[in-house]
Amino acid sequence: MTKIHQFDAIVVGAGGAGLMAALYATKGGVKVAVISKLYPTRSHTGTAQGGIGAALGNLEEDKPLWHAFDTVKGGDYLADQNAAMVLATEAIDAVIELEHMGLPFDRTDEGKISQRRFGGHTSNFGEKPVRRACHAADRTGHMILQTLYQQCIKHDVTFFDEFQVIDVIMNQGTCVGVVAIQLGTGEIHIFHGKATLFATGGWGRVWSVTSNAHSLTGDGAALTYRRGVPMQDMEFYQFHPTGIYKMGILITEGVRGEGGVLINGRGERFMEKYAPRIKDLASRDVVSRAIYLELREGNGIKGKDYVYLDVTPTTVNKYLAEAGETRRITAEDVEKKLPDILDFCRVYLGVDPVKQPMPIQPTAHYAMGGIPTNVHGEVVVDANWTVLPGMYAAGEVACVSCHGANRLGTNSLVDLVVFGRRGGKAMAEYAKQADFVPLPANAEKEVESEMTRIRTSSGKTRPYELRQMMQKTMMEKVGVFREEAGIAEALETVRELKARFQTDLSIDDRGYKFNTDLLEAWELGCLLDLAEITAISALNRKESRGAHSREDFQERDDTNWLVHSLIKNHAPSAFATGVFEPDLNTDKKVDMSLASEDERFIPKARTY
Ligand SMILES: Cc1cc2nc3c(=O)[nH]c(=O)nc-3n(C[C@H](O)[C@H](O)[C@H](O)COP(=O)(O)OP(=O)(O)OC[C@H]3O[C@@H](n4cnc5c(N)ncnc54)[C@H](O)[C@@H]3O)c2cc1C
Repeated sequence: MTKIHQFDAIVVGAGGAGLMAALYATKGGVKVAVISKLYPTRSHTGTAQGGIGAALGNLEEDKPLWHAFDTVKGGDYLADQNAAMVLATEAIDAVIELEHMGLPFDRTDEGKISQRRFGGHTSNFGEKPVRRACHAADRTGHMILQTLYQQCIKHDVTFFDEFQVIDVIMNQGTCVGVVAIQLGTGEIHIFHGKATLFATGGWGRVWSVTSNAHSLTGDGAALTYRRGVPMQDMEFYQFHPTGIYKMGILITEGVRGEGGVLINGRGERFMEKYAPRIKDLASRDVVSRAIYLELREGNGIKGKDYVYLDVTPTTVNKYLAEAGETRRITAEDVEKKLPDILDFCRVYLGVDPVKQPMPIQPTAHYAMGGIPTNVHGEVVVDANWTVLPGMYAAGEVACVSCHGANRLGTNSLVDLVVFGRRGGKAMAEYAKQADFVPLPANAEKEVESEMTRIRTSSGKTRPYELRQMMQKTMMEKVGVFREEAGIAEALETVRELKARFQTDLSIDDRGYKFNTDLLEAWELGCLLDLAEITAISALNRKESRGAHSREDFQERDDTNWLVHSLIKNHAPSAFATGVFEPDLNTDKKVDMSLASEDERFIPKARTY
């Protein structure tokens, strides 16, 4: 028997965005449930290392307008400038709010929140690097997640831990809740709500080398897409320049913020060539491309596919002296500011970053695209900003779009708290005045039969085989650099894999309790859908912008492409869609409305 629960507001996902939304919805006076496939404090937000950006100006002059400018420029002008302004302005009191909740930020000598440099963050419209990233050692996300979880418990939010949402329920043009499976029992539950917010995080597992946890399979994006919600700007997926070679584990940009430098096989600090002004602290897309170009020219370490990230005091101090800076770093500074990074390298690589450089390569990291929303977290379904009643999204799964074509470091954590908070408030307001729209009959049936199909499948192909092929193809052909023929081949491969997922799948566990075999297969369906729409969107955009770098269209083309793309499935269903052509359009204009005409940032060529 399907169990039915009723709440005013339902939040799917317990990372930073979900918890902030839940906290604000409950403070708004409505009954809130958080559903999470992971135990909340295991969410990926807990792995965020480097920091959360806010123009507090604790160590040097800084302003929200400069932060907004960097965000828009870093996003290669595709960001909605009103959203970037909201992000940068509200970052300040969001960070102070976290501090008041008890988050143990690192401190300056005066007792203020300490701040460090990060890629693309500058003062006075690109003049020089600025210290904007607030941090708690290299465990900032962990501290945010713990702090918000404690606050949610304190405010009586109801948690459904280890429940995986597998479908969204619509009725009368409104989102009325979700269908979930309880991991421990395999039972199906329906959550009936007035407002439902998706905060399910990203989908780095589409690619073979990624910084993302195993759970980041894009469930929320895939299941809403299947039900007809368009996805925005899916061609923009960020590769972080510094993942541990072959493993993908992230080495925070904070390492370069502390003075670390990238070195190629010839011993050169190659970023001097690509970004003469801010060098190793250029934005991520620029640095990732530079590394690929170095590798292509045979400048990898010992001719292999990696370069070094060097934060040893000898090297750092040499470059600081060359730059005329008085600051010097010691081994103790590195130990104190980057403890987790040192642990990762010592444990996984046997490399001690205080004495040796770290071998790194770009790693799939962050989805700029996702479920389109306005600045209130309401989901919009077309280029005219039409709101879908009852549905909200926040965090990495959402596309506000404040990050445009490339997100700056530290801006995701800001996005979670700023837009999570706005989404939570908007849900509470809506739920207080709206009635429950009834559930449709048999709301769970379609997805239940899809689960049965996977559970009882008796084909020849194991999910891991399909997953590996997808990840390898996407890494090679829809990665840092792309071109028409490669993307088209990737699309064909992904479609073949989707067909095999439908017709030739086989899993081992046919039971109900903790059937991770079943759920991982279902998650693979989500990844395949997202790989397909990423490839279609990448094929469509005939220019290079931000994280989307086409070798056959190397220039940014503001005349034709200063627009968002929306991709839509016109055959709503509960399961991985078959092979078909979704509708893709680029009618959605970039919103350039900042506070005043004078502050508007007009696209300019990007130099660092
Ligand atoms: C290693 C690493 C380091 C990073 N460092 C930084 C940094 O220093 N600064 C910065 O700004 N950004 C950083 N980022 C990016 C940032 O951490 C993420 O973008 C952000 O934490 C995403 O938060 P979220 O709340 O959207 O989702 P997540 O924290 O990923 O949480 C997703 C939630 O959704 C739930 N969920 C997913 N699918 C389902 C489903 N089907 N049913 C039920 N629940 C579901 C999960 O259980 C989880 O609770 C980093 C990312 C990584 C991977």
